[in-house]
Parts: sequence; structure tokens; C-alpha cells
Amino acid sequence: MTFNPSTKELQKALKCLCIQFAGWNDRIGGLTTDGLSALEDAFDVLGWDDPHPMPELCCDEPRCMKRADYGTPLYDHDILYGYHNTCYKHRPKGDKNAFTNEIT
Ligand SMILES: [Zn+2]
Repeated sequence: MTFNPSTKELQKALKCLCIQFAGWNDRIGGLTTDGLSALEDAFDVLGWDDPHPMPELCCDEPRCMKRADYGTPLYDHDILYGYHNTCYKHRPKGDKNAFTNEIT
């Protein structure tokens, strides 16, 4: 059986790899290659500058450009409607519900 992924599928896989393995730039709030050639090639294929802004991965606190690593569940009358994503610095102190968040 031959698997022929589409360009869109390949780009999605490459983006996921970059999100998992690229460094983080706090100044712009985005991914950076940190000079690693494999990541530089991946950024080129994706058409990304280095660093590449990723506001969807940033901490939800105002003016914080650090990467969000934690998600605190948000409830409305016991119904989960989202997460407040924060960096380590802004993680709620003593929040037992805060967990390591993996953003895809
Ligand atoms: Zn933060």
C-alpha cells in the first residue's frame, strides 16, 4: 500500500514538528530555528521568517510574549468552555487543575 500525502498534509506535519522542536523567542512571541539547519530548511519550506510569530502559542496574560505551557480549564456552570493558557511565570499558584498543555 502506497501512502501519497498531499502537500497540505506534509506542511501540517512539518508545522507540528517545528512547534515541538523549535526554540522560542520571547521578544516577538514566536518560534525560532536557533540556527539549526534542519529547522532552517523546515522554516524555508513553510515560508516562515526566523523568528516566526505564533500568537496562538503565547501566554494569555496581557503583554506577555512567553510561550504558554499550562492551561487552566474555564467553566461556566460546570461546562468546560476553554482554557486560560499561561506561561510558567503566570501559572496560577496552587491551581491543582492547571496542567501541561500541548498545543497542536
Ligand atoms: Zn506569561
